[in-house]
Amino acid sequence: MDVRTFAGGDFAENGYVVACGDTGATVVVDPGASADRMADAITSEGLDLQAILLTHAHLDHIEGVHLIRALDPELPIWLHPADRGWYDGIQQQAAMFGLHVVPQPAPDHEFVPGESFHFGGCRFDVRFAPGHAPGHIILVAPEHDLALVGDVIFQGSIGRTDLPGGDFRTLMSSIREQVMTLPDETVLYTGHGPTTTVGRERVGNPFLLGQYDV
Ligand SMILES: [Zn+2]
Ligand SMILES: [Zn+2]
Repeated sequence: MDVRTFAGGDFAENGYVVACGDTGATVVVDPGASADRMADAITSEGLDLQAILLTHAHLDHIEGVHLIRALDPELPIWLHPADRGWYDGIQQQAAMFGLHVVPQPAPDHEFVPGESFHFGGCRFDVRFAPGHAPGHIILVAPEHDLALVGDVIFQGSIGRTDLPGGDFRTLMSSIREQVMTLPDETVLYTGHGPTTTVGRERVGNPFLLGQYDV
């Protein structure tokens, strides 16, 4: 599994192009301000794009969906239903930050936590991790020791919980139950900033100190 990061925009959001080994089967996760560069890479390399997967529907993670969908109007768009209100309200979200964005094509597939998403010979397990956003999911690839965790946890930090629908206690439960239960070597690809690992955050994340015996 090849995970490539495309960072950019006012929020320095990380979008990901994930290709499954030699098959070329590819998904885009959280296409934000760098979606034009993601689309260029997919086109120039002839990748077999199969879906757009969204960890949650905050503006910075979805503002480039239309640019990826333009590559293929049949491309499925996956989102957890509890974030659909945020998705459909993208222009109100933009107004909160004094920004303007175009409307986005509607998601047509709903993530079900506990189920898996398959592409090529690869698999993401879907885990429900609300708290930063009400419909936040993370994508775990246990066979590849990695997870795409959106804005649940960052290197040395955690997702903000002051936006509508956010809740600190819920977020901490999600981190404990859905992230820290993964093996220490699991690489975490986050929605902002550098990658980290479960083990590194277990001992070094100030928001988690005291919660684990190390
Ligand atoms: Zn977010
Ligand atoms: Zn974000």
